[in-house]
Amino acid sequence: SKRGRLDQFIAGTLQISKKAVRGLLITHKVLVDGQFAKSPDLQIDEFTHIECNGVVLRQYQPCYFMLNKPDGVVSATVDDKHTTALSLLHGVEHDMLHIAGRLDLHSTGLLLITNDAKWSAALMAPEHKVAKHYLVTLANPIDQEYVEAFANGMYFEYENMTTLAAQLTLLSSHQASVVLREGKYHQIKRMFGRFRNPVVALHRESIGDIYLDNQLKPGEFRSLTKAEVDSII
Ligand code: URA
Repeated sequence: SKRGRLDQFIAGTLQISKKAVRGLLITHKVLVDGQFAKSPDLQIDEFTHIECNGVVLRQYQPCYFMLNKPDGVVSATVDDKHTTALSLLHGVEHDMLHIAGRLDLHSTGLLLITNDAKWSAALMAPEHKVAKHYLVTLANPIDQEYVEAFANGMYFEYENMTTLAAQLTLLSSHQASVVLREGKYHQIKRMFGRFRNPVVALHRESIGDIYLDNQLKPGEFRSLTKAEVDSII
């Protein structure tokens, strides 16, 4: 994280000397999180709100993006073998950015990326059970019996847990839409694995009320609208 001294930050932002910053502090011109700051060496981070002479020196600018993740791109910040999702955000400062809800290497579609850890934590909190919609293509024909099995939940031995009710809708012989309200490791692949039916393509269409913008080609991204950001509790 971007921790540092208050005087260093103000001096750098306003292009003034540290001595001049001390003057501002002594004369109560600097507000840090709503309180007058006195110490030049006060530790601040990217979430600290800083005002000087009534002007906000906004150090932390929350940002939120949706990316149409292409096949073969890894949901990670760094990787030495594959292109990372973050490297596709051309022209965006990567500092503090993280992915809210990963997709497997070969999965495609909606990926949310933000620097707002509170927002992503709310989005991913198990108790919020945010719905995620997937379009799934299978190697073999899908059977009506899958619907009940997904709705009943499946026991996963490794995690010793039963999946929450998942909604499966048949779209064609080899395609289904699946709604999950959780995200266990390779969950959809493992659920279809119970029927020995390999997933050949997996595309995320939405997370909560945020839908993948159909204007975005694979690899393209845009900022979320305020309504999209606010749709997450
Ligand atoms: N389930 C999977 O198996 N993979 C994903 O990427 C998402 C859900």
